[in-house]
Amino acid sequence: MTVRVAVLTETAPGERRVALVPDAVGRLTAADMEVLVQAGAGQAAWFPDHDYARAGATVLPGEEARTRADVVLTVGRPPVDQVRQLRAGQALVGMLHPLTDPGYAQILAELGITAVSLDGLPRTLSRAQSMDALSSQANISGYKAALVAANTLERYFPLLITAAGTARPARVLVLGVGVAGLQAIGTARRLGALVSAYDVRPETRTEAESLGASFLVLESVATATGEGGYARALTPDEQQAQQQELNGHIAGCDAVITTAQVPGRRPPVLVTAEAIKAMSPGSVIVDAASSPLGGNVEGSQPGRTTVTDNGVTVVGADNLPATMPTAASTAYARNVSNLLLHLVHDGTLTIDLADEIQAGVVITHGGQVVSPATAGLLAAAHGGEPVEPGTAG
Ligand code: NAD
Repeated sequence: MTVRVAVLTETAPGERRVALVPDAVGRLTAADMEVLVQAGAGQAAWFPDHDYARAGATVLPGEEARTRADVVLTVGRPPVDQVRQLRAGQALVGMLHPLTDPGYAQILAELGITAVSLDGLPRTLSRAQSMDALSSQANISGYKAALVAANTLERYFPLLITAAGTARPARVLVLGVGVAGLQAIGTARRLGALVSAYDVRPETRTEAESLGASFLVLESVATATGEGGYARALTPDEQQAQQQELNGHIAGCDAVITTAQVPGRRPPVLVTAEAIKAMSPGSVIVDAASSPLGGNVEGSQPGRTTVTDNGVTVVGADNLPATMPTAASTAYARNVSNLLLHLVHDGTLTIDLADEIQAGVVITHGGQVVSPATAGLLAAAHGGEPVEPGTAG
């Protein structure tokens, strides 16, 4: 038996990534999978159809790849009307973010689709690290956020001593020192900026300092390390105290890059309108946590760049990996093909929830929401009652 894996064109506005690149096709065909590529799927990321064909994939027009597939690969979440075109028993593998929209998972379960979401991966498990798409995409996000900040700031990042005078280095503040924040620090430092950084998890201090940033210690905010090495959400009082104390630091910066996230929650607001008012004209904020749920910067709008009345440019950078689709797709393809190689045995996609990796990534199977975290959110949304098919909110 052969598992047929289809790569579809992403449909979200501005999304230029593709789930599999030609280089990764051979890894799947060598493991007895057949790769079907929707014609044009890689075009926006600069991977032409003929490269997929040369690598051993079958390029198919229109919807044929989807209908013939056992497994459909995507980067982001296909819209519900597309998901409804899948048939029971097919698998959907992508970054489905069920914790921010458990109702979507409920729909997949009702349709009998096996949903596998790379953002559920147990990231600290060493054998899962090559499948960690959150990290590979966050790396790109942090790198590009620093470049966007440097490009938007209309002064130098480095200290420059020239015959026309000396330019002082830009002062850059990075808020949130996870994978994206660390990459933003490293990139801004390589461009010569003076970088400071802040995170609620105190263990990030040594990592930030090792990349050449100074670390802000806020006296009003307690340690907020939560489960799994992530941050916990702050209480409203803690958040207000944090914002107040950060205001003074933000005012003195030329560029602020924000990357703070709390899993399954809307991103915390770290830069308030009041803080922006105190910044100098010409300064820049890149909100890399920007999303339809909100971002780290009050008033930032996903996908839009705005200039405030006091001359601060706020970039709502909602999907930076899509702006570097070649690198982002190459890394994602590596992650997703490693996950497939883990799931496919003897020509079938084998679901085994006793496996630690699968217990994290498999969201729906056999008509049920099997991810405990997602099922818990659905139950809570229905007043603690078990959720019946068809009642998803
Ligand atoms: P993330 O995207 O969830 O969040 C980014 C950063 O924002 C985090 O450092 C978080 O502490 C910070 N943050 C959240 N709320 C904040 C607030 N109110 N103020 C300031 N900062 C705030 O994080 P991530 O990049 O996905 O990394 C999360 C964790 O996973 C880290 O501990 C990281 O080391 C770990 N991780 C481990 C591995 C591994 O072991 N292989 C791989 C990837 C990530």
